[in-house]
Amino acid sequence: MTTIKLHNTKTRKKEVFTPIDPGNVRMYVCGPTVYDRAHLGNARPVVVFDVLFRLLRHVYGEGHVTYVRNFTDVDDKINARAAESGRTIGEITAETTQWFLDDMAALGALEPTHMPRATQYIPQMVAMIEDLIARGHAYAAEGHVLFAVDSWREHYGALSGRSVDDMIAGARVEVAPYKKNPMDFVLWKPSTPDLPGWESPWGRGRPGWHIECSAMAYELLGESFDIHGGGNDLMFPHHENEIAQSCCAHPEGDFARVWMHNEMLQVEGRKMSKSLGNFFTVRDLLDQGIPGEVIRFVFLSTHYRKPMDWTAEKAEQAKATLMEIWSLVSETVATEPSVGVMDALADDLNTPQAIAEIHEMVSEIKSGSGDPRMLFASMKLLGHFNFAPSISSLGWGPFSDEEHRAAIDLARRWMALRVAKDFAAADRLKTAASELGVELKVTKEGGQQAAQAKFNKKVSIEELEALQ
Ligand code: AMP
Ligand code: ZN
Repeated sequence: MTTIKLHNTKTRKKEVFTPIDPGNVRMYVCGPTVYDRAHLGNARPVVVFDVLFRLLRHVYGEGHVTYVRNFTDVDDKINARAAESGRTIGEITAETTQWFLDDMAALGALEPTHMPRATQYIPQMVAMIEDLIARGHAYAAEGHVLFAVDSWREHYGALSGRSVDDMIAGARVEVAPYKKNPMDFVLWKPSTPDLPGWESPWGRGRPGWHIECSAMAYELLGESFDIHGGGNDLMFPHHENEIAQSCCAHPEGDFARVWMHNEMLQVEGRKMSKSLGNFFTVRDLLDQGIPGEVIRFVFLSTHYRKPMDWTAEKAEQAKATLMEIWSLVSETVATEPSVGVMDALADDLNTPQAIAEIHEMVSEIKSGSGDPRMLFASMKLLGHFNFAPSISSLGWGPFSDEEHRAAIDLARRWMALRVAKDFAAADRLKTAASELGVELKVTKEGGQQAAQAKFNKKVSIEELEALQ
């Protein structure tokens, strides 16, 4: 079996990865707060941990990996968005959740095994908070419940490498009258009648952000699991607080064994973020006609522990590379990925090295040696050429622009027949397309119906246009 090495933030070392149970490798990754379109930076952890998910499935078997990524659907940012837009919280979170799924699918990300929504786990959060109080790690005050950092002082800060004293000196803490110690953080807070709230032993209220991940990870993965991931901006305080809560509520377990953090996506040297206003969304790029495959390939060209810059030039190069690779593999069947690509991924997800191996294979094939089937399989392992192109969302890439247009045109023609209620003609077109290896189906894009053409093989423009 391939030996995987992963860099563990907790030990600051690259370590050989040994799962607790090779029959069920378990990973948790912090997901988005759903109040707006995902910006390009938000997509980085999704792609990084999708590569890891694919690698783990390849090594341990598809049914032997459990990947959990949550949706935070209760949060002050969501409440603020509802108040300013006049829409309900439910409308906003449902719409944004679907946007996120559509946009990430366009980047070729597999859906995680479980995608829990925080609001579906409130009783588990309340139970965990009660347990923390009973064990002397938390206290209720003025409708709030706070985690008592002093009760775990010698361990708190180990992940991010800071001591409690440093943190207080750094004044990265919020002082509030109901806190015994300024470092204490909120597990539960009171809600006014106009805000979302649930009945609890401390009155009507809502959970703090950190307890959500602890409760969902415990419920779906148990008290000890293998990998916890997220962006390095979450290391403190979010992950530090998750560890404190989970280890204190479940001292029999050790929560996550390996912690992995991706570096930030940057724009001109600064983190891309909503608060800095220097962001664009994944959807912006897709709408500009930059295919999801291209965005993914650009991401993979930088190692996940290095900051990366998005540039239009990188996207152009990636598109050219993908089209060249596609021309070499499109007539073949994928076999096994190359040893070079496997070794690169197994070495702490060294995707730039994997891409260097891909380029090497391309040159070999062009010079007459080399195996296109292995190249195809290597690309699939990286999450490319897996053929679930959402034509309507321009999610698919390595077609030429003309092929792309012909494919979109087919999806449009089919949708037009359905809208006109000419179901007989629509069905004829669908059957003819399916005989060519193209599946036509209806999807939801941001709450609206859209047609999707899913290609199971390459089809020429002439064949697409001839379809009736
Ligand atoms: P947020 O919605 O800000 O809580 O972020 C959701 C996920 O996106 C987290 O895993 C963050 O670490 C990650 N993230 C946010 N901004 C960036 C960025 N500029 N680059 C990479 N990851 C980011
Ligand atoms: Zn989290």
